[in-house]
Amino acid sequence: MNKAMQKFLCDQLDPNPQLWEKRIYKATDCGAWIKLEENAITFGSIVEGSNYDVTPVQVAWPFTREEFWDALELVERAANRIWLETHGCDECAERWGWVDEYGFVLEGCDGITPVHPDCTTCYGQGVVI
Ligand SMILES: [Zn+2]
Repeated sequence: MNKAMQKFLCDQLDPNPQLWEKRIYKATDCGAWIKLEENAITFGSIVEGSNYDVTPVQVAWPFTREEFWDALELVERAANRIWLETHGCDECAERWGWVDEYGFVLEGCDGITPVHPDCTTCYGQGVVI
């Protein structure tokens, strides 16, 4: 990694480079990861319980403080969207009217049920699968 970028990360995250990954993980609800290259940084996230990963977002040096945090925010928002599309509970599935050909309500918590905003079980937050 180039020296200027290293200094930037020391200022933004922590003087100790060994704590950078942890800082990014903790700074995001989605537990984002960071990958460092000579002249670029890539952020990404794995959404547990779904079959989708967030498309990684890369910023190339030189970037501004704003561009750095905006890239991380993009990953956070994408992870949140995937979570809401896939982490519905049983009540969510019922509220969506998901029934099989015999009229039985299909179960949620399967990684494909979207979260229903009016759900009184998960309160529109989804569940850990
Ligand atoms: Zn629910």
